[in-house]
Amino acid sequence: MTTVGVLGGGQLARMLALAGAPLGVRFLVVDSLADACASQVAPLLQADWRDFAALEAFAARIDVATFDFENVPAETAQWLTEHTAVYPNPRALALAQDRLAEKTLFREIGLDTPAFAAIDSKADLEHALAEIGYPAVLKTCRLGYDGKGQFRLKTPADLDAAWAALGQAPLIVEAFVPFERELSVIAVRSRDGEFRSYPLTQNWHADGILSMSLAPAPDSAGLAEQANAFARRIAEKLDYVGTFALELFVHEGRLLGNEMAPRVHNSGHWTIEGSPCSQFENHVRAVLGLPLGDTSSLGVNVMFNWIGDLPESAPILAEPRAHWHDYGKEPRAGRKVGHATLCAFTAEEMRERLARVAWALGREIQAEPVLKVLRAG
Ligand code: AMP
Repeated sequence: MTTVGVLGGGQLARMLALAGAPLGVRFLVVDSLADACASQVAPLLQADWRDFAALEAFAARIDVATFDFENVPAETAQWLTEHTAVYPNPRALALAQDRLAEKTLFREIGLDTPAFAAIDSKADLEHALAEIGYPAVLKTCRLGYDGKGQFRLKTPADLDAAWAALGQAPLIVEAFVPFERELSVIAVRSRDGEFRSYPLTQNWHADGILSMSLAPAPDSAGLAEQANAFARRIAEKLDYVGTFALELFVHEGRLLGNEMAPRVHNSGHWTIEGSPCSQFENHVRAVLGLPLGDTSSLGVNVMFNWIGDLPESAPILAEPRAHWHDYGKEPRAGRKVGHATLCAFTAEEMRERLARVAWALGREIQAEPVLKVLRAG
């Protein structure tokens, strides 16, 4: 019996375990919280990620370790490599934990990024903003996700408040990009270097958190091919094994790199029902050295994220080819508690059904930009 160990016991670990079960794979998750939601579907080892005695016991019970969270301490990932196989490798994890290193890598492989500068002092910030201009976004280099650790600067009058909010940590300041679209590529690379990617996904955020995704994203400009080539170069450069996401902006028709997530990603949840082999199953296959699965799309797919609390499930459950995912978490403001995926055979069918389902869910306003893309595409 093969066991995959997962550092982190959130919804991503939960969906990895659900995807791996039909392959006969067992899971063991490590989380400091007794009620980590993955523990509802897989055994939990309740421990801190810096508790090396607990990690030793963890390593003894698994065949391979992986992550559901990119901010696992780099030294924990490194220590684990001396006790078990670890995928993705700690170097890839460390790089994706640092926005500066990440953007530097993007530029090395030919992917442009918003203008940015490293910030260590208030004087650095003043100089950088004189160069980059306003609006801009100040971000912590580390431990940021879902829009956390970010401050938008609209005018020089915001500088003091931005510094007061974030001025302790190593920072990066970026030009605020008035992008046309946000896209992501979900890709997977196997232990023997095979690379596959899912069709391009278009994403909409609210308050820095993913709100809705559409896949495949309409693409008349050949952006998918470019995005894939960048994702492949990144994966090869990092000798990456497993599923990852590359988040992109489209600005003046060109791709800009925003960030990469060294794990399965929220914008790839549609692959559970929308692709023959989901991002979760492909991650499990990749880290175990199994053949990768088909990453094509079975039609047109829209994912709704539920933040804070779950609505009534009935409008989704009553809808053909609509799928409900309750992560089993306590409701809390800003927390991802579930998602739903609506699948259709054609864009036309999706337009009609999305309008109806969004209305029934009270999400008409958020669905409107998705409908606009479907109408234009
Ligand atoms: P991040 O955590 O960096 O992915 O930021 C979360 C979201 O904030 C992104 O998906 C964008 O919607 C927005 N955002 C972040 N950085 C920028 C930027 N430089 N320009 C415009 N929007 C941004």
